[in-house]
Amino acid sequence: WHQRSELDDMADLSPELEKEMERLDKEFWISGEKLKKIVTRFRDELEEGLQENGTNIPMNVTWVHRLPTGKEKGTILTLDLGGTNLRVCKVTLHGDSTDLKDPSQKYTLDQEQYKLPGSIKTATAEELWTYIAEKLSDFIDQKLGGEYNDTNKLPLGFTFSYPATQERIDHAILQTWTKGFDIEGVEGQDAAAQLREKIEERKLPLELICVINDTVGAMVASAYNDHDTIIGGIFGTGCNAAYMSSVPSIKKLDPNDARLKDSDGHKSGQMAINCEYGAFDNAHRVLPLTKYDAQIDEKSPRPGEQAFEKFSAGLYLGEIFRLVLVELTDKGLIFKNAQSDKLRKSYTLDTGFLSQMEDDESRGFADTRRLFKDVLGLEVTDEEIELSRRLAELIAVRGARLCACGVAAICLKEGIEKGHVAADGSVANKHPKFKKRWAKALGEILDWEEKGLQEDPIIITSAEDGSGVGCAIIAAMELEWRAKPTK
Ligand code: BGC
Ligand code: MG
Repeated sequence: WHQRSELDDMADLSPELEKEMERLDKEFWISGEKLKKIVTRFRDELEEGLQENGTNIPMNVTWVHRLPTGKEKGTILTLDLGGTNLRVCKVTLHGDSTDLKDPSQKYTLDQEQYKLPGSIKTATAEELWTYIAEKLSDFIDQKLGGEYNDTNKLPLGFTFSYPATQERIDHAILQTWTKGFDIEGVEGQDAAAQLREKIEERKLPLELICVINDTVGAMVASAYNDHDTIIGGIFGTGCNAAYMSSVPSIKKLDPNDARLKDSDGHKSGQMAINCEYGAFDNAHRVLPLTKYDAQIDEKSPRPGEQAFEKFSAGLYLGEIFRLVLVELTDKGLIFKNAQSDKLRKSYTLDTGFLSQMEDDESRGFADTRRLFKDVLGLEVTDEEIELSRRLAELIAVRGARLCACGVAAICLKEGIEKGHVAADGSVANKHPKFKKRWAKALGEILDWEEKGLQEDPIIITSAEDGSGVGCAIIAAMELEWRAKPTK
């Protein structure tokens, strides 16, 4: 235990608890060797997804054919349906028409965020799109002041961060809901068409140009300024990544599709692939499943799906932690004199809870003590704090190490040896130790130390605003392409 943990002991654990910790450590620890085995399987599943439709990892084609040049221009409205918020932005891309030196000045952005009603996750399609159209309408009324109308529509880009089959860029058949969503009437349907219908019903002066995934948005927004960007990754409520693939290596694409051919009739060019690798190893062939993971899967609205995501993404880390605490409570080893009804409630602890604990440098862990009091109504002992800190570390380390596997698999498969992984999401950007752990694991998988490299060739960076700026850039690129006299 002590070799792997970065923690200094603050208190001793009882022998019984120490034994439990040893067991948990074994269950949650993933060695470098095991990571490599996982990555080997991961590569195979990524490759299978490019070969044919209906494979476990879908490797969705996105019809985004290039990374931006940085010159893209235009005014676009963007809509982001996230797990907790709905965000609407008016983005103006200045391209390189200005002499602005600061890259963040290459665009201007006006936005509004609406908190999704808690009930939306289990609403119906009708309720979902009505809610969204209402917010779009509010935004237009409050911010656009009659500038747009039926003959002068504002282009709209939609970030829909769920697995979708796209036959065109403005089309998105939802394959399955993820991240705990369970809205009836959207799976198997074109989300773009459903949104468009509501926009028309309300006569909103908008034209839906593109539907994108958050990973593709992150990659594109980041590449706008940083040409070393190779991958867009989300390590947040869910987990996933996108990269640029060559068209000829996407074997499942229709060979007769004229959109993919060069003037000589050969398949050519590039296409952004939204991997949807949260589904990796749904068959549980390599991921070391603990009983806590199994419990999470069973109680989720889609058991058997998003296996990899359930091990590593922000929606689940706090829940795994909670399940272990409940087990130790039931064994009579912790919280002996206290009862916490809240601890018994699923999903009461989010990743922020773990982040704050790992961030705690206060004397005697006063912040952690307060956290338990505020969130769970529990007065914790030194021993319980010690145990919780170790456990939070175990779970977060496992998550970060697994997160490195997805990116390693893409890099190995594509022969990518250096570049920037533009990362977004609450785990990547709010957990204090995620990036360091992720980088270490990636190095272990790719043998950087053995190769004697002086510095990490593949680096995790903080992505630019994918669902606002990234989505707007993609819409602008699409409009530019459509405006060309011939293809
Ligand atoms: C979704 C992906 C998304 C990821 C991160 C997953 O649950 O299926 O489309 O990119 O979460 O938001
Ligand atoms: Mg998001």
